[in-house]
Amino acid sequence: MAYITLNKNNFFNNLDIIAEHTKSVDKIALVLKDNGYGHGLLEMSALAKEYGVKKAVVRTCEEAKSIEDFFEYILVLGEIPKIKSDKIRYTINDINTISRFPANTKVELKVDTGMHRNGIDISELQEAFIKIKEAGLILEAVFTHHRSADELTSEWFWQNENFKIVKANSIKLAKEFGFDELRFHSSNSASLFRHADFDEDMARVGISAYGCMKLPNSLFVENLKPVLSLHATINSSRELKKGERVGYGGDYEAKESCKVTNYNFGYGDGFLRTCANKGYKTPNGEELIGRISMDNSSFVSDKEELLIFNDASKVAPFAETISYEVLTSLKSDITRKII
Ligand SMILES: *Cc1c(COP(=O)(O)O)cnc(C)c1O
Repeated sequence: MAYITLNKNNFFNNLDIIAEHTKSVDKIALVLKDNGYGHGLLEMSALAKEYGVKKAVVRTCEEAKSIEDFFEYILVLGEIPKIKSDKIRYTINDINTISRFPANTKVELKVDTGMHRNGIDISELQEAFIKIKEAGLILEAVFTHHRSADELTSEWFWQNENFKIVKANSIKLAKEFGFDELRFHSSNSASLFRHADFDEDMARVGISAYGCMKLPNSLFVENLKPVLSLHATINSSRELKKGERVGYGGDYEAKESCKVTNYNFGYGDGFLRTCANKGYKTPNGEELIGRISMDNSSFVSDKEELLIFNDASKVAPFAETISYEVLTSLKSDITRKII
């Protein structure tokens, strides 16, 4: 079977670099949605706790519940409250859902500063505060998300300008409505690294902690190291003669005789089929040949065990996607080992 190794030193190295930027470990909110970006929700939670990270961000109530013991603060991004817990905060993504939140729920208000995906409109801020008050919710924070923090455009700047207005108005409204002092946050990984002097209350970091962040060259790139490596074990091996073909459709034709080994890892495990037939080579130079099957993939190799990749951002271009999708495609039943 395939297995995943998680490199603790690399993860801690990345958290060191992130903490330098946030200026405090307490301001790191590790994004663990989608099974910790495919790394393993519980494995990464345990490592984060060991490092001293106290905050986590997830998509669902179930994810939040399962990691309650590891963190002091957990923000749920994508669900209306189903579970009551002192540690869990819920995101208000739409003004029309506020009345569906149970009284006394701790909430964070998401404001749309330009991405137009989730969050209330800036013009709805006062109305949202009225509804939050009426519903008896505990408003703790106001936040936003960037649509282009990882691109070299001016968009990051104008969204920051919009968020400044949101902050000023929220501070006034919080006083008026008798809420406690609010926290504010707007940065994902790329945005955090663009701030020369980060001064928000926390940063929601995912891909940088996992060491697979890709930014345009002129944006500052740090010495982040990939945490996850993927390995597969042998199914079978054969000698191929010149002109023989491999796999479904026989897409690959041997140009000379070679040893071809088939490994126990395919698209059913999360190896994106679009990677195939593009000359992808493992970190040790073994070439992926022919189509990727559900449970199998073939390489020019004679090894019993193969390191398929140790940096998702290097595989991503072959699959015509981003490291996030390569990672979150990895199925949760693959064994994860911390090394
Ligand atoms: C996924 C997500 C993040 C993390 O983004 P990275 O680019 O992985 O750092 C932060 N904030 C929100 C709202 C997200 O959905």
